[in-house]
Amino acid sequence: MPSQPTPDLSPQVSDEVRKTTCYMCACRCGIDVHMKAGRVAYIEGNRDHPVNKGVLCAKGSAGIMQHLSPARLRAPLKRVGPRGSGEFEEISWDEALKLATDWLKPLRDTAPEKLAFFTGRDQSQSFTGWWAQAFGTPNWAAHGGFCSVNMAAAGIYTMGGSFWEFGQPDWDRTKLFLLFGVAEDHDSNPIKMGLGKLKARGARVIGVNPIRSGYNAIADDWIGITPGTDGLFILSLVHELLRAGKIDLTYLIRYTNASYLVNAHDGAEKGLFLRDAAGKPMVRDRRTGHAVAWDSPDISPDLANGVEIGGVTHLPVFRHLADRYLAPDYAPEAVAKRCGIAPARIRAIASEIARVAFEEEITINQPWTDFRGVKHATMTGRPVAMHAMRGVSAHSNGFQTARALHMLQILIGSVETPGGFRFKPPYPKPPEAHPRPHAGHSPGQPLDGPHLGYPLGPEHLLIDETGQPKRIDKAFSWDAPLSAHGLMHMVISNAHAGDPYEIDTLFLYMANMAWNSSMNTSAVMDMLTDQNDDGSYKIPRIIYSDAYSSEMVAFADLILPDTTYLERHDCISLLDRPICEAEALADSIRWPVVAPDRPGHEGVRPFQSVLLDLGARLGLPGMVHDDGTPKFKDYADYITNHERRPGVGPLAGFRGPDGTGKGRGSPNPEQIDRYIENGGFWIDHIPEEALFFKPWNAAYQDWAVARGLFDSPQPYVFNLYVEPLRKFQLAAEGHGHRQPPDHLRARLMETMDPLPIWYPTFTDADSDSASYPLHALTQRPMAHYHSWGSQNAWLRQIHGHTPLYVSGYLWAQHGFEAGDWATLTSPHGRITLPVVRMDALNPQTVWTWNAIAKRRGAWALNEQAPEATKSTLLNHLIHELLPPKGDGLRWANSDPITGQAAWYDLRVRIEKAPVGQTVSYPAHKPQSSPVPAPPRNLAHQVKD
Ligand code: SF4
Repeated sequence: MPSQPTPDLSPQVSDEVRKTTCYMCACRCGIDVHMKAGRVAYIEGNRDHPVNKGVLCAKGSAGIMQHLSPARLRAPLKRVGPRGSGEFEEISWDEALKLATDWLKPLRDTAPEKLAFFTGRDQSQSFTGWWAQAFGTPNWAAHGGFCSVNMAAAGIYTMGGSFWEFGQPDWDRTKLFLLFGVAEDHDSNPIKMGLGKLKARGARVIGVNPIRSGYNAIADDWIGITPGTDGLFILSLVHELLRAGKIDLTYLIRYTNASYLVNAHDGAEKGLFLRDAAGKPMVRDRRTGHAVAWDSPDISPDLANGVEIGGVTHLPVFRHLADRYLAPDYAPEAVAKRCGIAPARIRAIASEIARVAFEEEITINQPWTDFRGVKHATMTGRPVAMHAMRGVSAHSNGFQTARALHMLQILIGSVETPGGFRFKPPYPKPPEAHPRPHAGHSPGQPLDGPHLGYPLGPEHLLIDETGQPKRIDKAFSWDAPLSAHGLMHMVISNAHAGDPYEIDTLFLYMANMAWNSSMNTSAVMDMLTDQNDDGSYKIPRIIYSDAYSSEMVAFADLILPDTTYLERHDCISLLDRPICEAEALADSIRWPVVAPDRPGHEGVRPFQSVLLDLGARLGLPGMVHDDGTPKFKDYADYITNHERRPGVGPLAGFRGPDGTGKGRGSPNPEQIDRYIENGGFWIDHIPEEALFFKPWNAAYQDWAVARGLFDSPQPYVFNLYVEPLRKFQLAAEGHGHRQPPDHLRARLMETMDPLPIWYPTFTDADSDSASYPLHALTQRPMAHYHSWGSQNAWLRQIHGHTPLYVSGYLWAQHGFEAGDWATLTSPHGRITLPVVRMDALNPQTVWTWNAIAKRRGAWALNEQAPEATKSTLLNHLIHELLPPKGDGLRWANSDPITGQAAWYDLRVRIEKAPVGQTVSYPAHKPQSSPVPAPPRNLAHQVKD
């Protein structure tokens, strides 16, 4: 018998493991980076990590190719050709930092608002915001305005938190799970792990999404809803639950403002809560029939009846709510056609929610005490959980849709109860516990407070005495009153137009605004290069920092090259976007598991360290000692020693002189080492009696104070009715000193309803449906994250181009055949790309992958790469303004409450492209690349 080779079944894959945090998407899983001979050999999931417990996705394991990407920048760059050409010269870091300082110092000394500093998908927003506040510009925000601010703001205003970083389903107990509009990369590993748990237990999953891919593909029921109608569907479910009496009235009375009395009398007080002399909202006590403060002891709040005081009637919130949603407008028959869901199906889903919530309730034998001092022997919950993301959020009715979803969760009593939705610390946190937005600036001084926050009425808008916005993105103005994350997508067009004022320097970090992160991409490129009559640029200076040669690089005057995520320190902070779990407080770090290495070049530096260096050169408060010397050596030094409040810093773990401080404690010089020893993270479990009912649980509130999450207990009730929204409506009706411009009054009155409403998206309402009959959407694939993934040599092999997925109905209607191409036309433009049939798709919807398409010359890809020749972006079809309506105004293509970019409102028509079409359209001319062309074959093997 011939001898058989003996394979080595357990080869030694590494000689050392370094534990850090993944950055291949925003989930922040723990990873074990295996090193061999000082090089990265292999990446696997960290089994002890709270986020992923060892699970690793395709992106995470492909981090090696991100770290070794040919597109990595290698040195600071100064533009030498015209803007957009991509022609640069390499300069030293000294020269780069001197140049940046020479540009920024005069601005700080004279007009700090002339700096607009916006960051993309970075995870250091509490740091960059702190820097911008010290600089003194009001013009700072991150990318939330074009991502999911509707979801975040609706959650905070309604119940003190939303999905993803804010909270999660009770995966171990939920029996029915509804998933709305979730891009299949969002909260990637945690959702996959959670779905795995549900499937293992036989829990039912209902996916609501026009496209059945990713998570929706494994749903027990798929609801292929018409885009932009989720809110109507949800309110129809509410109608059915109210009609059947399947509402948790005890929960509503104890934990929500359902019993608050609302003024029903026409006038300046209409719609506001009845309050006592101390300003506390009042309820009607059923025992006495009198109005008393909502938190009075031993009362029985009335949900049905009101009071009359001085001839003015005040009715409880629940009465308004029931009257509204029991109306026939929300009956399944009334909404079915619009939503594309049969009435019987809507009824069946409502009935299943009711059955699981009220017939399969879960009780845990765990005593707890509420904030009123009432002791409860058990924790009882309704095991229906929900999760939603950008598919619901990125519409012009997204804020109210997300509000409707939270209202549905609350009405059945499934928030913060076993089996339902659970907050992750530091949430829940109601709007009152967040700051208000600030824009007070003056030469040489820091801003008068944090940039972003949650307005509670028109008095908190950032407008001047003439009503003009104070911020370049017009956040917190009448255009977008509750724009809690800013409006990054409006910065370039406003700066180009000098509206509301001109800026001098646009400073961007990790935001590919010249390509996939902007609506109206081609026009944005024109704005970035547009010149005045004297040849100067309309946006005078652009500084950009990125690790890679992205499309945006070509449009900057100065490039500050960043490191890859394996070469840097980071903190995933409780002050920012934490990684906590519903049962634990947690944060984590990144650290340089390999040193930055760009042989023969000046090299790269971590952006946050560069920002601290710049801050010291500019003498910014908090970044220099009294003698003007730098306070922090680098970002690691800042992470260790910065204190946001006494004893509270970027990292919560291992604080204090002996490293035992949890959440609070003086800086510990060994803190980062302790994180590294602990696997790159820190975790602190919530006590059993504090695990549920967090907003009202005295033990949780005390624990949160001890950990530095708040400085005093802050119990509150959920806002079924959001009174601040009513205050904006009152202003629009003509009440109060701060008045909106006349052209916005009707829109504010209609959309800022204190109870959730549904209205057609602005595009649907205005669209000529005969010309643009179809909806067009993008989804991010699980294997990619924005534009980072589609330059990765391994991930490109999974998705390398962007087919247009067309329903079987449209396929037949247009006579498509395999290999055909199609042209999509919107009121704003047209694109051409190859078509693929997909039957698990809403018949009136087409879609493609997001952010895979690349411009020729960018990302060190071959100019004939399929990402450039067989791919395009829907961004070319979307304008930041709606088409002219004939009223002389151009209305924003965004949610009118938060300003969220309405990416998913897009309407198009489809036509078969001429035979012989083989290249996608539009095809922009190639950019010069500041990095060399890639090798023909890119391989990576670490040998002994
Ligand atoms: S889900 Fe995101 S953070 Fe987690 S391993 Fe994958 S890419 Fe990394």
